Amino acid sequence: MRKTVDSSRAGPDAKLGSVRWPASAAHDGLLYHRAMTRRLALVMLLLWSRTGFTSAASETRATTEPPAIAALRSDRTRPAEDLLSEVERWGQTESNSLADGWTRLAMGEFCDELEQPERAYALLGEAATIATREHADDLAIAARSRLASMYANRGDAERAAKVLGEMETIASAAGRQDWRSLWAYNRGVLERKLGHFEAAIRYFGQSAELALAGQDRRQQARALNALGLVLARMGKFADALAHHHQALDLARATADTSELARTYRMLGFLHRNLDDEELAAQNIREALKHLGPRDVREGIALRGELSRALLELGQIEEAARHGEEAANASIKLGSPPNKVNSFTALSDARLAQGRIDEAEDWSRRAFALHDSVAIRDQVQIHANRMRVARVRGDLQNALKEGRATVEGARKLGDKVLERTALDELSDIELATGEVAAAMATRKAFQELDKSLAIDIAGRRVAILEGSLAAQRAETERSLLARDNQIQALRITRQRIVGVGLMVGLALLAGFALLSHRRYQETRRLHAALAESSIELQRVANTDALTGIANRGAIVARFAQVLGAVQEHRQSLAVLLIDIDHFKRINDQHGHLAGDEVLREAAQRMLAALPAEAHFGRWGGEEFIALLEDTEPRRAAEIAECVRASIDRAPFQYGAISIRASVSIGVAAAECPERRGIDRLVATADAALYRAKNAGRNRIELA
Ligand code: GH3
Ligand code: MG
Ligand code: MG
Repeated sequence: MRKTVDSSRAGPDAKLGSVRWPASAAHDGLLYHRAMTRRLALVMLLLWSRTGFTSAASETRATTEPPAIAALRSDRTRPAEDLLSEVERWGQTESNSLADGWTRLAMGEFCDELEQPERAYALLGEAATIATREHADDLAIAARSRLASMYANRGDAERAAKVLGEMETIASAAGRQDWRSLWAYNRGVLERKLGHFEAAIRYFGQSAELALAGQDRRQQARALNALGLVLARMGKFADALAHHHQALDLARATADTSELARTYRMLGFLHRNLDDEELAAQNIREALKHLGPRDVREGIALRGELSRALLELGQIEEAARHGEEAANASIKLGSPPNKVNSFTALSDARLAQGRIDEAEDWSRRAFALHDSVAIRDQVQIHANRMRVARVRGDLQNALKEGRATVEGARKLGDKVLERTALDELSDIELATGEVAAAMATRKAFQELDKSLAIDIAGRRVAILEGSLAAQRAETERSLLARDNQIQALRITRQRIVGVGLMVGLALLAGFALLSHRRYQETRRLHAALAESSIELQRVANTDALTGIANRGAIVARFAQVLGAVQEHRQSLAVLLIDIDHFKRINDQHGHLAGDEVLREAAQRMLAALPAEAHFGRWGGEEFIALLEDTEPRRAAEIAECVRASIDRAPFQYGAISIRASVSIGVAAAECPERRGIDRLVATADAALYRAKNAGRNRIELA
């Protein structure tokens, strides 16, 4: 990964010392996490630009540490004693100088854990010397890191600072941000021990940022917890809480049980300062569950803290029991601060039990360590001595120790400690009759209490914020659910619309079908109408009795026929046919018999006529036939056929046989004029008349 330094962004702040996070974070700790992420890139650039090693990030983290040593140093499952003897044995088999250096380092660390400081100092010093000789920077850093921590814990600030200076030089030269993170952490510890809380915050902050950049989550958790602890001591409870919670997440994610224990202890401490001793005890008990065999010091610190919390809760016997355990363990394996903490805790518990001699004894044992601990632990000693003296009725000493406590706490910037001390000092001053001083102290207490209460309120706000976030999440969830419901509703609506559409379509289809049916019905009716009109026409044109064309139809036909023959210049013939003595038939056989004769006669004549002849009933017992393109002679032949068809055989009406005959007048004209038909008919009629007169049953040609 090739990185380039953006000089415009690195700008005038391109100095590590000017990374300005801690002061602002102290005021705005909750924003720190977000700010840290944003600043990360900038910090990286600052570091690179300062140390001038742009390719550092791509460097492989080569280590000179033998894997066997690394395995032992990181083994949290066995007690330090076992590990010490094992590393000693391993060291004896190695002749290699570098391996020897690492062996001494591991031994030194285990000796420190086993509270053998002198031996530890010697071993770590040797490891550092070998590291220089072998140019093994990683070993040099590891040795100095432990040395710095030991010196700081034992109140030797000068040596600690010297070792840290060397460590910084090596880390910067190598351009290793993980080493710088470790260095910053140790530097923070020293500053804290010296009571330089602002500086401590700055260094812990750097360490956390570098650890984050290097993705070293364990170191990040460590630094965040350290930050939280200092913030809590300064009364920045909300910020502290936020840092510890972040550390808790990281410790959980990396399964770092030691850090988990430390985090819970600090949360316990925090809750104790928030007057929530119940929650404090709960957290400390949780912390105890995560202790491993090597977490001896952590265990001591935890039991001391638990003892204090239980004391506040009025669980005096249990508090004393944990105080005893802590004190006994620290006598065996504890560091000086461990001893001071546990001894003073047990002393306080003994006071509560009314075992004042024992309380005084533990107080004295703590005081014996006064010069081998940092100022922070010294304040603890003064506070305890104040209480013991007060119970003893030695008010002057109580006053002296009380003032030393307040002074020390103020120097440290430890608001929590200062508040407790002011509270107690005010009482002592009152008891000694120093009313004015007591009032002033009480006022100072109240002011401090108020400012801490504000931060307690801040912490409550933080907790509230947390719950608000949860509520927000809940709201979002419910919104989402509502959204889903709306979606579902929308789908339902769509479905309804779909169904509606379907119904609509169905209705439309039904309507269409109906319309279609109506249409068909109409069509049918139309057809029927047409049919009936045809029928009507047919009926209108047809003679009801005989079924042949009636007079109207024949007259209508005249025009067409005339047009055709005129167009083709053809001749036209008219046959006018009248049944002879029809009156007689009616008279002799009845009207019905007459009808029958009429019907039968029409059929016989129709059959006798050529197919193209236009034939109809002219009225009564008279018939007419129009023959197109027919000459007179041919017309006479046809007329003869017609006459013969009637005369040929009698008509049958039931059993009755009726003889009938017709007379026919024939008229024909070549290409008749428009009014030619009337004349033809009149001519034919005249010929018919002649046929009648000539005896009937005959044809007469005009
Ligand atoms: P001619 O030989 O001179 O024609 O004598 P005719 O008796 O045939 O002539 P006339 O004109 O005196 O009589 C016609 C009769 O035909 C009179 C009428 O009652 C009868 N007649 C007319 N139409 C019908 C009909 O539709 N049915 C029946 N049964 N008789 C009809
Ligand atoms: Mg007649
Ligand atoms: Mg007649």
